[in-house]
Amino acid sequence: MRLAILSRGPRLYSTKRIAEEARLAGHEPTVLDPLLVSLSVADDEVQVMMRGRPLEFDAVLPRIGYSITQHGVAVLRHFERRGTYCANSSRSVIRSRDKLHATQALSRHGIPMPRTVYVRDPRDIDSAIDHIGSGAVVVKVTEGTQGNGVLLCHNRDEARRIVEAMLRAGVNVILQQYVRESHGVDVRVLVVGESVVASMRRRARGDEFRSNYHLNGMIEPIDLPAEYARVALESCRILGLNIAGVDLLEGRDGPMLLEVNSSPGLQGIEKATGVNVASHIVKQISDNALFANVNLDPLMRTRKGHGVLRLPIRSTSNLIGKSLELIFESMEQNPVFALVRAGELLWLPSNETIIGPGDEILCFGPLRSLRERLSFLIENSVESSLDIGQEWRQ
Ligand code: ADP
Repeated sequence: MRLAILSRGPRLYSTKRIAEEARLAGHEPTVLDPLLVSLSVADDEVQVMMRGRPLEFDAVLPRIGYSITQHGVAVLRHFERRGTYCANSSRSVIRSRDKLHATQALSRHGIPMPRTVYVRDPRDIDSAIDHIGSGAVVVKVTEGTQGNGVLLCHNRDEARRIVEAMLRAGVNVILQQYVRESHGVDVRVLVVGESVVASMRRRARGDEFRSNYHLNGMIEPIDLPAEYARVALESCRILGLNIAGVDLLEGRDGPMLLEVNSSPGLQGIEKATGVNVASHIVKQISDNALFANVNLDPLMRTRKGHGVLRLPIRSTSNLIGKSLELIFESMEQNPVFALVRAGELLWLPSNETIIGPGDEILCFGPLRSLRERLSFLIENSVESSLDIGQEWRQ
């Protein structure tokens, strides 16, 4: 396998370790600096070029630093367009990089997190602190890393002053509940594919409340409780990351997700646990390199006028209690390809499936007639079906 490690630093510990393990496993690794490549687009052909020559790989592992996220992701997208397997997709990297974006996606799926408010207007600072509901507040910039841009404010006045100054400077700010019981401690879980391959606890030194390893924190291996592993794996699945470092706080009632990092450092975790994380990463990539990433969105738009409609069923919907067959009986082809129920995706649900509150119906088909049909159904209730609907609501 010809593996490109997209990284600016061939001498960085993690990059070196992954290249070394790839070589040991008989692959051909190349460390590719994303800032040294050009991206060409001509007609329908895209190329990644270096010094005038097109580059070709079987797989790409992005290890993109925060400062070059935009360009790094553009390079990744180019490889994806060429059908090259990318160990973490451009979409998943982008989504996890933005703390707010990641928080939105994860909270929708019930991942436990500290209460978080994103503020834009200084007039909202007080209500944000009320919402968070404790004396101390953590203030973060939305795109920070390794503890930079994370501050603990001990009272409302201090928080207000700092947030006001940040907003004035045009910085995007998140206010977060301070998880006191996890002061100076967090858990890093290394996920590769569908498994947790290593985990450690990080402790800050002295009074510091941030436990990041690069802030000179201490590290120790831990026996990861099942709930911590579940939350870590589920978070990666939701963000679409195959390789990630998941940071969890040790809350009173269990793990609370802090962050998912798409380019986790390997030095601390390999040292703390003795696990050869780099070889797990190389194996995951070589097992999957044959298969290109799938982004369903463009596929769903390949037929003219066709697309996906997602219909959330509110508790007052008159579709509740009806079967899919009844709902779509006037359409030539049943457009339903999936149903989201209690966070689970049910592919190709049967015609007899009865719709309940909170479900989401995913339909594919000619958008105009699909929209008309669904709007008509929502606006015109049918008495007999509504009766069953009542039962559902109880
Ligand atoms: P970064 O992405 O810059 O590393 P994090 O959000 O991971 O920032 O925060 C850095 C460190 O600060 C964490 O490892 C943790 O120890 C501490 N920390 C962050 N948020 C909280 C919080 N809400 N409650 C308690 N400690 C926190």
